[in-house]
Amino acid sequence: MAKPIRRVAVLGAGTMGSGIAAHVANAGLPVLLLDIVPPDLNKLLKAKPAALFHPRAARMIETGVFDDALDRIATCDLVIEAVVERLDIKRSLFERVEQIVAGKDVIVSSNTSGLRIADMMEGRSPAFRQRFLITHFFNPPRYMKLLELVAGADTDADVMARVRRFATEALGKGVVVAKDTPNFIANRIGAHGMLATVHQMLADGLAPEDVDQICGVAMGRPKSAVFRTADVVGIDVLAHVADNCYASLVDDEDRDVFKLPDFVRAMVEAGRLGDKTGGGFYRKTKDGIETLDPKTGEYRPRGGDPAIRKACKAIAQIESPAERVKKLVATEGTVGAFAWKVLSRSLAYTARRVGEICDDVDAIDDAMRWGYNWELGPFETWDALGFAETYDRMVADGIALPESVAAMRKTGAPGFYRDDGAVFDLAKGEYTPRAPDPRTATLDVLRRGDAPVLKNAGAEAWDLGDGVLGVTFKTKANSLDADVIAMLGAAVDRAEQDFRAIVIANRGAHFCVGANLMAIVMAANQKLWDQLEETVRTLQTTVQRMKYAQVPIVAAPFGMTVGGGLEVCLASSAVQAAAETYAGLVEVGVGLIPGGGGTVNLLWRALESIPEGTDHNVFASVAQVFRNIATAAVATSAEEAKAKGYFRVTDGVSFDKARLLAEAKARAIGMAESGYHPPVPRAYRLPGESGIATLQMLIDSMVAGGQATEHDGLIARKLATVLCGGSGGAAREITEQEVLDLEREAFVSLCGEPKSLERMQHMLMRNKPLRN
Ligand code: NAD
Repeated sequence: MAKPIRRVAVLGAGTMGSGIAAHVANAGLPVLLLDIVPPDLNKLLKAKPAALFHPRAARMIETGVFDDALDRIATCDLVIEAVVERLDIKRSLFERVEQIVAGKDVIVSSNTSGLRIADMMEGRSPAFRQRFLITHFFNPPRYMKLLELVAGADTDADVMARVRRFATEALGKGVVVAKDTPNFIANRIGAHGMLATVHQMLADGLAPEDVDQICGVAMGRPKSAVFRTADVVGIDVLAHVADNCYASLVDDEDRDVFKLPDFVRAMVEAGRLGDKTGGGFYRKTKDGIETLDPKTGEYRPRGGDPAIRKACKAIAQIESPAERVKKLVATEGTVGAFAWKVLSRSLAYTARRVGEICDDVDAIDDAMRWGYNWELGPFETWDALGFAETYDRMVADGIALPESVAAMRKTGAPGFYRDDGAVFDLAKGEYTPRAPDPRTATLDVLRRGDAPVLKNAGAEAWDLGDGVLGVTFKTKANSLDADVIAMLGAAVDRAEQDFRAIVIANRGAHFCVGANLMAIVMAANQKLWDQLEETVRTLQTTVQRMKYAQVPIVAAPFGMTVGGGLEVCLASSAVQAAAETYAGLVEVGVGLIPGGGGTVNLLWRALESIPEGTDHNVFASVAQVFRNIATAAVATSAEEAKAKGYFRVTDGVSFDKARLLAEAKARAIGMAESGYHPPVPRAYRLPGESGIATLQMLIDSMVAGGQATEHDGLIARKLATVLCGGSGGAAREITEQEVLDLEREAFVSLCGEPKSLERMQHMLMRNKPLRN
């Protein structure tokens, strides 16, 4: 096994350096962050989107200036250089670095976007070159999965292996090995595609809005498409990549694409650099959003062709990205014609780059998915359009394609990817099998048999092998409804007979967005109080059944995990969460309090470390739970969810979401194999009447101060009563069932409040909370 990397230094504390240091700190490794002037950790703490999972991770970062502290890099395993993109500056820094690390086991890398290793290593010794590579992170490092690694002519294979292992295991990155060519893989293909699109827009007289419709979700790309993405990335960064490509790619057959259009150059000169300067291709004004008109170079109200928007919006509704792009290109008129022109040019250009920038088509696809958030890489897109048809159409259009692809066409190959997972190797002219990585196995890969073990309209339970039953929700945005709740209960019954553990393994962008409000609103409108009471009781019984199941249950949340979604996690024996999990009990936003045991289970989590029989004042813990629920506090990472008490400090965090299921399954098996026993119910002495009175003062001051409405105050009062164990909570130990009864009573009574109903209806119709 490659020797692990345990201590890192980052040289340069700008955008990238501080972002990289933050992510190393997120991973729990000590990191030394140096620059010519003292790095500003306060600025890092305020970064948007947040660079740190939790502010406390900043404690892992030590800062300093080169002149005082550069010597300390000798104690690090890896030194990542991220200073300004200037060859002379990087070279002189490496000269200093070499003097310090000579003879030591220190790997040095550069985060350069475009400089060549051979140029940066001029004057460096063979020993230094052997331990040098490029580690090209994408911005922002916490959120972008791609890391391009580039070896120089002299880089040791062992050095590459060590950094690859560190990047994937510790940082959760997706590594793609690129060749040492200008702008490597993702930015080369990405900038080419983007600029080709801009040139085509000018030639065809389309508006930026039209282009963003065609080249966004409909094409399997992010909603921000071309121009919104450019505004976020920065027009100067785009111009920098384009200029670097144009200057260095003198033999590129499509070099002219990289020539920045005049209107974009004018934007850079005018300081219209995108979001960071308050406007780029688009800008926000008090009258609405404006678009920069490429013809006049001035802003005008946002518009675009309604017919194009309508056609693209309809395509964007299709779930499968492959079906979407196929439909897009097949669309009659401007939409299909424009999509074909830009896609065929980009796909052919990418095909011509195989062997030059990277040997493997699947690695190029990975780079574009992980670095540019495309849903499909170029070769996956080509397959989606039909390999042979697309090839033939490009040839008919006179588009140059490499010999290797022509040869592939002659073999009758169905596409770059075969159904069995094999990938076409263009150099060898044949398919090569790809060994599936068990660590990124999806539910489809893991599940055994042709049919689920259990199934209803809202959820399924599959045999995931090794005695693990995997429950997966099938409702819209994985919301909780009666079927899902029934499945959770049935899965526990079944697993206690035939399995040794359960994993809650949902798919999609979000783990669970809470309970389906529609059923609640309908029952409340018809004043079916008994029915509502029964619904809540069933949910409560189910979560408690999960909590006390004889087999361990591991929930695997990711993305939005709110309301009922978090209640499912609270009821599970353990959690294995994706690092990017946004969890909270947000019921007050719809005029309610949690009704699936969320109050008691969050409270019991906060109190569980209190030794039984001790005289412990629990008020501060109760008040904290109260605040989190009353303000609908949503954690912005799995680590923050731990800090808020939503997850346990011992719960697992998967840095790479692709590995979440395998890691959750491993946790479930580990629990089953290490002698799992369900918890035994506890009871606590709660604050009772005096606690309610103290919380009431807090509520009153928030209402008086305008931070909460009268109705917020009413909901908070009911919440306080539940969490304090009712007015008699202080007199004796209160059981879970008593708190659950209070929770249910409060929930049903809130359903009868007109203002709560208004909140629910508003959420159903507008998909945002109403503050009334
Ligand atoms: P930046 O301008 O935000 O930060 C550069 C840092 O270099 C600053 O903190 C500055 O103090 C320091 N610096 C300036 N002059 C120096 C000198 N003479 N000696 C030593 N340090 C000096 O730049 P950035 O965007 O963080 O880029 C850093 C590196 O990462 C560059 O090589 C860039 O090409 C690369 N990169 C940038 C991005 C991106 O999106 N911004 C993405 C990938 C890679």
